[in-house]
Amino acid sequence: MLAGNDPASQVYVRAKEKAGIDSGLAVVVHRVDETITRQRLLGLVSDLNRDETCDGILVQSPLPPALGKPVEQEVFDAIDPRKDVDGFHPQNGGRLLQGRATLAPCTPSGVIELLDRSGVTIAGARAVVIGRSEIVGKPMALLLLQRDATVTICHSRTKDLAAITRDADILVSAIGRPGFVTPSMVKPGAAVVDVGTTPTTDRAVVERLFGAGSKRLQTFDAKGSTVLGDVDPAVADVAGWLSPVPGGVGPLTIAMLLKNTLAAAEQRAR
Ligand code: NAP
Repeated sequence: MLAGNDPASQVYVRAKEKAGIDSGLAVVVHRVDETITRQRLLGLVSDLNRDETCDGILVQSPLPPALGKPVEQEVFDAIDPRKDVDGFHPQNGGRLLQGRATLAPCTPSGVIELLDRSGVTIAGARAVVIGRSEIVGKPMALLLLQRDATVTICHSRTKDLAAITRDADILVSAIGRPGFVTPSMVKPGAAVVDVGTTPTTDRAVVERLFGAGSKRLQTFDAKGSTVLGDVDPAVADVAGWLSPVPGGVGPLTIAMLLKNTLAAAEQRAR
């Protein structure tokens, strides 16, 4: 379900719709106006909860600002937990905390998949997560903990952040500040996962991060915008692994959404 005209949300929903259709799922995008009321939104969720042909429900965040954050939470809470393919329902959050999640949030699940498929050993690793949001930072820390990493969560009030990140074998940054993680914050050989995606039209920032003659700057000049990660590209000289932005965690997030949808369908069919 997509409410309103947020440009980034339109792009995300189109990508999810395409990936779903390409993999053989029946995808129905309910586009509703940004003036939609709380009651109407909750009514739509309730209809989908009852719809036997529907295995997964995703309400694209953020909802129109006029509705306010509490309504967004209320809408997520109203989704049938068995159809909650984003894994944001408190029941699924609780199951994740207890280490028995069927539907875990897609972005952190994608990071685990990315680490596994890159051959990074998680068990016993010192993992540091920068960011403590409900959708990325916190579930990320829990998933790493379940895989036997020793986990530290950092946030905007963390003191001497660099001293903590320099200790990390696995460093996950999910804050949304372009180029925030610099080479001096990274342990040589560490696996660095960049979750941040910040759209920018600021040429100077792109030039500072990628260099005057870089291909990325040329692409920016052609398009007038780009999406930047949290990690300074120079970290590639220090890290053992570094996920790209765009093209790293983003596609994995969508893949995990498809995986969750299949898991939800199988769970309901049991
Ligand atoms: P969020 O809700 O805004 O949370 C940001 C977190 O970063 C907060 O916990 C905040 O700390 C922390 N933070 C901000 N500035 C900091 C600083 N200077 N030092 C340390 N911590 C700092 O964001 P989110 O929803 O988790 O998303 C984070 C980023 O990931 C965004 O760029 C978003 O676009 C991106 N994202 C990407 C995907 C994907 O599929 N690739 C999916 C989801 C999100 P406090 O809690 O103390 O304020």
